[in-house]
Amino acid sequence: MTTDITPDYDAIIIGAGMSGMYQLLRLRELGLKVLVLEAGSGVGGTWYWNRYPGARFDSESYSYGYSFSQDLLNEWNWSEHFAAQPETLRYLNHVADKFDLRRDIVFHSRVRAAHYLDDARCWEITSEDGTIRRARFLVTAIGPLSAPTMPRIEGVGSFKGEAYHTANWPHTPVDFAGKRVAVIGTGSTGVQTIQEVSKTAGHLTVFQRTPNWCAPLHNSKIDDATQAQVKANYPEMFARCRETFACFLHTPDPRGTFEVSKEEREAFFEKLYASPGFGIWQGNFRDILVDRAANAEITDFVARQIRQRVKDQAVAEKLIPKNHGFGTRRVPLETRYYEVYNQPNVELVDIKETPIVRITPTGIETSAGAYEFDIIVYATGFDAITGSFDRIDIRGAGGQRLKDKWAQGPQTFLGVQVEGFPNMMMLVGPHTALGNIPRSIEYNVDWVTRLIRTMRDRHLTFADAKPEAVAAWTEHVKNIGAGLLSNEVSSWFTGVNSNVEGKQTRIIARYSGSAPAYRAWCDEVADKGYRELELA
Ligand code: NAP
Repeated sequence: MTTDITPDYDAIIIGAGMSGMYQLLRLRELGLKVLVLEAGSGVGGTWYWNRYPGARFDSESYSYGYSFSQDLLNEWNWSEHFAAQPETLRYLNHVADKFDLRRDIVFHSRVRAAHYLDDARCWEITSEDGTIRRARFLVTAIGPLSAPTMPRIEGVGSFKGEAYHTANWPHTPVDFAGKRVAVIGTGSTGVQTIQEVSKTAGHLTVFQRTPNWCAPLHNSKIDDATQAQVKANYPEMFARCRETFACFLHTPDPRGTFEVSKEEREAFFEKLYASPGFGIWQGNFRDILVDRAANAEITDFVARQIRQRVKDQAVAEKLIPKNHGFGTRRVPLETRYYEVYNQPNVELVDIKETPIVRITPTGIETSAGAYEFDIIVYATGFDAITGSFDRIDIRGAGGQRLKDKWAQGPQTFLGVQVEGFPNMMMLVGPHTALGNIPRSIEYNVDWVTRLIRTMRDRHLTFADAKPEAVAAWTEHVKNIGAGLLSNEVSSWFTGVNSNVEGKQTRIIARYSGSAPAYRAWCDEVADKGYRELELA
């Protein structure tokens, strides 16, 4: 009889990345017994796994770090406006030390299954080593981009040289000097990898299927005076992030593209292209991501920049996307990415023209011939947003599988709960506002913490989203994304991954309204006593 079961923990959190770490801290503050199960050997999540060469922030370092502790803000010095991965991982380890988080984290513990026990109103969580633990609440902190995918190409695995996926990068340095290197994939990760590897590789061959619209990062060191200024401005800066559409420092210009003269428009684009960070994407005219004619203007501008920067115009044309407009996929930020293709040691292979036929023991064979390599880097991305859930055998009330429930796309309440999966709370799950993710994480965690605190105070042991609340939220998420050009384009934003069975069709995977609107909705639910949840 499961009714005799007492949970071992109040809450088990899956994942010790930025969201899991912060959730641990908050639930611990409530006096709850909490455990984090983490697959890796250390904290950091994304920044633990993605240690590929060139990995760094695309949002300003100081806007990315945690905001909850003044002490932490005061003592941590970011060295660059857009910090590299090793520094971010150091930062997250510092946070783990400072708040003594590791004592409640079990490393090397990938979760295989999480089953809800109806009678006991708790979750039974099984790790890959067979260990079983039970908890009243299950908090998934498993990230939207944490299930890496290899290409479905014949012969993957047969290659005898070194082969790495960027999200499973070794902890020891990989030496590219003088080597023949292949990179497959030209998303944000591929772009950062290519820039770095091209510096030392003997010969680098980039296998590109779809080019992306990249824009300059314009990174720089933070000097002492700026450091002091950053620290003094933290309250204003976080207040700004709370107000902007996607929690970045950048927010759309209130003007429409065609409300200004052609000359003004060109000057504004030039200014944005010369400015650091996501301004050209998030701080552009208000209509570039929803109006086709407006989007065509910025698209044409960026195409002209690429043609100027790449010497061989045939190569430039290959690097200019033809099937989607600027900003309709995540914009990779780059540092001399286009100039890489002017180097004699770099070659671009357009695999739409000459598709990869197979991976061989010595390299890659395309329809045009065979290439030999010492190292192949797979920058082929992730089974995004729902993929990290699909990897775990999650079963809710009555044994219902989450994967089946979401077969036609996710259905959630606020992106936090799923009807029929009581006491399961998702952090940055499907249907939440992503944007500058740590800002969304802090909000999500605080909301979940408030719900759990309320339940504890009211001696409640059961929280499930009501079906009508899920239907209303899922419909809202669908409607709010209507008209957004990015929702008409295949990318991880729309849940498409050519390497995963059944994920070739676009879905509404993320909340694409504004972060302030998302928070307003969630706040109202909490303020009015969670009427959309069945609480018992
Ligand atoms: P991605 O954007 O999904 O890019 C994957 C790349 O691999 C695409 O170019 C894709 O081509 C290609 N590809 C996939 N399967 C292939 C196959 N079978 N054959 C040939 N090419 C294939 O993944 P990502 O670059 O890892 O980036 C994912 C997200 O992570 C980013 O959008 C960003 O949000 C985040 N990220 C952030 C940072 C940062 O903040 N600094 C850095 C890196 C990544 P198609 O386009 O044709 O599918």
